Amino acid sequence: MQGEKMGFQAEVGRLLDIVAHALYSDKSVFLRELVSNASDACDKLRYLSLTEPDLAQGDAEFQVRLVPDKAAGTLTISDNGIGMSRQELIDNLGTIARSGTAAFLKQTTGDQAKDMALIGQFGVGFYAAFMVADEVRVVSRRAGEAEAHEWRSDGRGEFTLAPAQRETRGTDVILHLKKDAAEFLETDALKRVVVKYSDHIALPILIGEGPKAERVNAASALWTRPKSEITEQQYGEFYRHVAHAFDSPWLTLHFRAEGKIEYSALLFVPTAKPFDLFDPTRSNRLKLYVRRVFITDHCDGLLPAWLRFLRGVIDSEDLPLNISREMLQHNPLLAKIRQGVVKRVLSELQKKADAEPETYADFWNQFGPVLKEGLYEQNDQGDAILSLARFRTTGAETLASLADYVGRMKPEQDAIYYVTGETPEAAARSPHLEGFRARGIEVLLLADPIDEFWVPAVGSYKEKPFRSVTQGGIELDRIAPANGAAAAEPAPAGSDALVALLRLTLKDAVKDVRLSTRLTDSAVCLVAEEGDIDINLARLLKQHKRTETDFKRVLEINPAHALIRALAGRVGDKGSSDRLSDAAWLLLDQARILQGEPLEDPAGFARRQSAVIERAVAGG
Ligand code: ADP
Ligand code: MG
Repeated sequence: MQGEKMGFQAEVGRLLDIVAHALYSDKSVFLRELVSNASDACDKLRYLSLTEPDLAQGDAEFQVRLVPDKAAGTLTISDNGIGMSRQELIDNLGTIARSGTAAFLKQTTGDQAKDMALIGQFGVGFYAAFMVADEVRVVSRRAGEAEAHEWRSDGRGEFTLAPAQRETRGTDVILHLKKDAAEFLETDALKRVVVKYSDHIALPILIGEGPKAERVNAASALWTRPKSEITEQQYGEFYRHVAHAFDSPWLTLHFRAEGKIEYSALLFVPTAKPFDLFDPTRSNRLKLYVRRVFITDHCDGLLPAWLRFLRGVIDSEDLPLNISREMLQHNPLLAKIRQGVVKRVLSELQKKADAEPETYADFWNQFGPVLKEGLYEQNDQGDAILSLARFRTTGAETLASLADYVGRMKPEQDAIYYVTGETPEAAARSPHLEGFRARGIEVLLLADPIDEFWVPAVGSYKEKPFRSVTQGGIELDRIAPANGAAAAEPAPAGSDALVALLRLTLKDAVKDVRLSTRLTDSAVCLVAEEGDIDINLARLLKQHKRTETDFKRVLEINPAHALIRALAGRVGDKGSSDRLSDAAWLLLDQARILQGEPLEDPAGFARRQSAVIERAVAGG
């Protein structure tokens, strides 16, 4: 056959194989994917024709048509949407443009279910055609162009492009059905599949040729229908269509705002985390419609970045249709819609949090880190977000709200204590927590990078300040130890002299040395001086090369610890000054290790440690 042979992009080859053979358990979903694409293509052209009416001239009745041909063994899905140019056929059906696809594919886990849910997010719907077809032909003519092109493939690594004929704009996807997919040549079977998966599509879906064709869907935009007439299944299918998603919505929000400004919203919180949630663009994926006409899915004014996990549609009655997407961003009506949507979403989340805390925890684990960005941005929703926030703590197995935490505070306690770390488990191992545990004081375990930023920005909750357990001189002495624990013994004689000696020896390596009330088991820890940058944040900044500064910290020593007691007893002894000097540096290095920091002088550490071990082994 004439035409040009090309290979699929490597990642496509792999994805295609997965999609065609393993992704879907129900092969009839191929139809949902192809109808979804046809509907998107019509939406795109409808928008373009607002400013270029010529593009849709002569045929403004957008529709999707399914034509089974038993004699030829083919099923054709046709639309009169925007169509594809030759280059678009290559780009859209031969490559995957989404950034990070290749990188993502490398880290697939091998856990079938998990990988599948993620792969479903890549825009691979078209390849589902190969579940039922041993050959797929796509004949397409881009609106405004005179030529048509054919893309053809058996789904095994290569596709062929050739010039083709098509009377009008649009796309035909012609499936040469496999033997075991012959059911899709039957009109009744097709009807059932359309009703099941595609009833929400706002365009007419016709089965059959010419005037004999029969419309099989309701053909009205789902969000315009009354809630009571929409089934959960229909909401789910609509979600998968607008979000190009594979999972089911965790939460569905369907409402209409009436009054000064009017709009409908059909919004979904996904169950699974979209893989590009932390893309640096932080842009949202909501679709904006104006009076049922699709306008854009790139309207950043529509939603704050910290709600970018939402999927769905907003349809405004008031925005002008003939306005460029760029101008739209700055339209004051848009800001009003955004305000209304944000309020509504937060209040629905709050309802869910109150009524179903366990289900809410699933949401929080997926999207909490994104929502918390809103705390850092300091907007008027800060209190609402704080009330939605949930935390791992040292005190409880289940997630706690700040209200829970404050309710459990000790009578003498006046701050909300937190500790940060790479993971909640790592944070929980921090030696700084020892004194808190001994007194039964609960501490929040913060492990999302954003936590380092929003906590200082927010400062307090219900007038209780947030305080890092690694910062400042914390006066735990005022709070009695928990039941059974012995009251702290007075610092042994010589402690003050030991502190003075450590100050002298370590000089500029530390900001200060002092006796600790935070420690019970460990001998030492590092803390930041009140008003200084938190030490975990400092570590984070250094790790990401965001700062060159060495922030000096305070070395705290535990006067109750046997080692510290022994050292305190030797201060001033004749001939012990070398050993005490070694011990001073070793204590500082130990504190750094506990903190998860690299040692500044590993060779010095090794030398001193060897000397100490040698003396110990030699019994002297
Ligand atoms: P997605 O729909 O998630 O982007 P698909 O694999 O379903 O992923 O489709 C890939 C791309 O191919 C679409 O984004 C679109 O640009 C193009 N495409 C597919 N079908 C059509 C069609 N009928 N008309 C125009 N473009 C289409
Ligand atoms: Mg698609």
